[in-house]
Amino acid sequence: MERGDHVIVVDNFFTGRKDNLLHHLGNPNFELIRHDVVEPILLEVDQIYHLACPASPVHYKYNPTNVVGTLNMLGLAKRVGARFLLTSTSEVYGDPLQHPQVETYWGNVNPIGVRSCYDEGKRTAETLTMDYHRGANLEVRIARIFNTYGPRMCIDDGRVVSNFVAQALRKEPMTVYGDGKQTRSFQYVSDLVEGLIRLMEGDHVGPFNLGNPGEFTMLELAKVVQDTIDSEAKIEFRPNTEDDPHKRKPDITRAKELLGWEPKISLRQGLPLMVTDFCKRIFGDHSETTT
Ligand code: UDP
Ligand code: UDP
Repeated sequence: MERGDHVIVVDNFFTGRKDNLLHHLGNPNFELIRHDVVEPILLEVDQIYHLACPASPVHYKYNPTNVVGTLNMLGLAKRVGARFLLTSTSEVYGDPLQHPQVETYWGNVNPIGVRSCYDEGKRTAETLTMDYHRGANLEVRIARIFNTYGPRMCIDDGRVVSNFVAQALRKEPMTVYGDGKQTRSFQYVSDLVEGLIRLMEGDHVGPFNLGNPGEFTMLELAKVVQDTIDSEAKIEFRPNTEDDPHKRKPDITRAKELLGWEPKISLRQGLPLMVTDFCKRIFGDHSETTT
């Protein structure tokens, strides 16, 4: 919108909130439609950023967005000749046997596990995207997004960063699943947005890993949260969920070379920005509890 584009946001508000968009209401270049993309929709557009699908294991079981929603958005893109960007996921690598993960790695995914609707769903979405590209000549782009956090994230999303931050602010123990030695690589949201726009505007289909290669165990993440919010914050161990990937870290060589992109914001820089936002939402605007 800053560069003059007209933007239509389609959201079913499963994990998003109207509050997050309030500052755009009234902008003539902005339009908001409450709609679930698992139902067909008719719109006239030039580009589609297909970002739909809750990414949290707690939420994604309840909705077939990855397959049905992707099919509808591809059908829409085909009808109007729009360029289509799929936001796929690092979950396509499953519990990876290769580390860090390169785009050419095919992954290690359980097809019948509790996470399969998400990771196999996204793998199907990638297949559909490439089939529309080859079969219907659609212009497509594929991003594989690694764990991302930032302001406006759903407080009860159930993801590890939002959980730890909300727990530390509420003086509850941070829940570490398993032994806490599993790793993830955490990307700040503005870095991701920059990567997605470069991918959409660039000449390469992908897939491209978009993530921050800075890798942390969950215990190390808890330490960063302690340093940022409350050095007294406690840790509580909980049983881990089935099929939880042991490690994850993007190789971003391809995005660096072909998109001229790399993340700029480290976890220690990005986390305080999220904490400020979570503080406001948990305690209200006039809270004394800020970092
Ligand atoms: N679709 C949509 N909006 C459109 C065009 C298509 O939601 O503007 C949906 C359509 O309802 C269908 C899906 O996209 O379920 C795939 O459409 P496509 O035309 O590729 O397949 P077909 O309908 O020919 O099977
Ligand atoms: N996790 C954790 N405590 C929580 C939530 C998640 O230790 O309160 C762990 C989880 O077991 C996984 C990692 O954090 O190993 C990342 O989980 P998340 O749901 O954030 O992302 P994903 O599993 O999709 O990478």
